Amino acid sequence: MKPKLVMPGDQLSTSEELLPGDGTFEENGIIRATRLGTYVIDEKHRTAEVKPITSIPVVLKKGDIVIARVTNAKEKMIIAEVKHVAGNNRSISSDTDATIYVKEIAQGFIKEASTEYKPEDYIRAKVIQVKPSLQLETKERGFGAIKALCSKCRHSLVKKSHGLECEYCGNKEYRRIADDYGTLDFQRL
Ligand SMILES: [Zn+2]
Repeated sequence: MKPKLVMPGDQLSTSEELLPGDGTFEENGIIRATRLGTYVIDEKHRTAEVKPITSIPVVLKKGDIVIARVTNAKEKMIIAEVKHVAGNNRSISSDTDATIYVKEIAQGFIKEASTEYKPEDYIRAKVIQVKPSLQLETKERGFGAIKALCSKCRHSLVKKSHGLECEYCGNKEYRRIADDYGTLDFQRL
């Protein structure tokens, strides 16, 4: 396959054909690019991926706004893997395993971190510390979950007036969501 240049938001494939991989997003069965780059299919894992266009990787720094995928939700902290700097198409050369402590999730008091985000959620967050460990916060309005899946059937949760709901099985769930959940601004991905 000849490498194909894609833009954020471009349709790449469907969730019936492939799984969404790095640099992509699945919404309503459509896999789209989240960054500018080259579209490649990982045949082994059957995933659609968008490789960053530049080979010069970026080192994370304090104040960066990043897109991260939650890998573990505990009582006192969320563990997430930073995928890329929002609006930036470069890969990251520094450590991408990040922690969000419960007090860094919201302005107000939160009892348990695991009620706010769940594994496999995609979140937008800000880097507040790089060394000795990567730490993020999601206190401001534009931060929080930008994509979450139903914990029962894995379909996308849709934003309704009362909160998030799975249109497939009717399950209602809670997340702390970013202001653009469901109407994603691809410039901010
Ligand atoms: Zn469901």
